[in-house]
Amino acid sequence: MISSNKQPKQPIYLDNAATTRCDPRVVEAMLPYFTEFFGNAGSRNHQFGWKAEDGIEVAREQSAKLVGAQPKEIIFTSGSTESNNLAIKGAAEIYARAGAGQTGRGHIVTAAHEHKAVLDPVRRLMREGFDATFIQPPADGVITAAMVAAAIRPDTILVTIMWVNNELGTINEVPEIGRLCHEREIIFHTDATQWVGKMPTNVEADQIDLLSWSGHKIYGPKGVGALYVRRRKPRVRLEALQDGGGQERGMRSGTQNVSGIVGFGKACELCLQSMDSERERLLALRTRLETELVKRLEVTVVNGHPTRRVANISNISFGFVEGESLMMGVREIACSSGSACTSASLEPSYVLKSLGIGDDLAHSSLRLSLGRWTTEADIDASIEMIETAVNHLRRLSPLYDLHKEGIDLSKIVWQSH
Ligand SMILES: *Cc1c(COP(=O)(O)O)cnc(C)c1O
Repeated sequence: MISSNKQPKQPIYLDNAATTRCDPRVVEAMLPYFTEFFGNAGSRNHQFGWKAEDGIEVAREQSAKLVGAQPKEIIFTSGSTESNNLAIKGAAEIYARAGAGQTGRGHIVTAAHEHKAVLDPVRRLMREGFDATFIQPPADGVITAAMVAAAIRPDTILVTIMWVNNELGTINEVPEIGRLCHEREIIFHTDATQWVGKMPTNVEADQIDLLSWSGHKIYGPKGVGALYVRRRKPRVRLEALQDGGGQERGMRSGTQNVSGIVGFGKACELCLQSMDSERERLLALRTRLETELVKRLEVTVVNGHPTRRVANISNISFGFVEGESLMMGVREIACSSGSACTSASLEPSYVLKSLGIGDDLAHSSLRLSLGRWTTEADIDASIEMIETAVNHLRRLSPLYDLHKEGIDLSKIVWQSH
């Protein structure tokens, strides 16, 4: 075989909101739990079981500490999708007002630009007799406590509002929404996948009843996450989704993913250690990215609230370029686009659409999300690549020519022949 020493160059990774590279210190912490400490944490009669259980309990403490909870309040799951499902369906089932199969079982408040892992469980509950309000976000994408207050009804049993939007990075008014829900004795869940590990979190001060987060978004392993379930003031009850061995206080039966949970705990510990310095570093890098792109390229807009955003996510629309060509043009950057591939067509992102952003601008947007291993050189190279790609595509665009001639494209009546 002829070997080539020319490795294909890896793209620059700017998709940390989709997943993160596992921290090597996390991998190191996990390894002994595959081979040496391989026991089932449910085996109470020998040291293999005790060792596994010890590993899980350390991870429970590390996870609880990151969010200001008690270890007993942490339920390990397979990730945020499962945590959201358990929180939303599990709470709805317990706090429902009428019997199964009946209508008028209770009202749920959420927002139109939540993650699918919240929207779809809520939609399923609607088919099972619950009612729901999907708050339309304003143009800046931020859900305020006032918006939630306006959506609450006498029969509201659950509010589920994400802390940070995963496409925009915008920060909703979570502590304020928590306070409002507690005043009205309504259970409050937040999908905090893009917040926890990056920003200080305290479920007591922030008045949260149920909080979901995930390992692979915080430099931990995939397939493991947690749900915080408040135990006092109020004691939140959940109907389990899965029946079996009664692990995780009966809320999540099934042999625990010991190595995964150990890695999750370690990832939580590391985030807590470096949170402030990491946030500062990423904010400087992102500011540079946004400032340069907006300065160099006209008709370029940063989507979502200008300042109420986490430090690592940027969503930018470039006018007068076509979405698919833009993705092709920046294929040396691993990032997400404002389009979602459905079976047949390229659909503009429902999140951007919910903000009132037109289909064209939604298609021609990029979500660039930075992480622990993003360097200044990565950002500088990305700025150059995006600038080149956008300028190239605009040179090919007849609409951009019209725009430059000062013609208002929104006033043109297009003829079809
Ligand atoms: C990634 C993500 C999820 C899904 O998490 P998994 O652990 O992959 O199931 C849910 N909500 C938000 C906001 C996310 O960013």
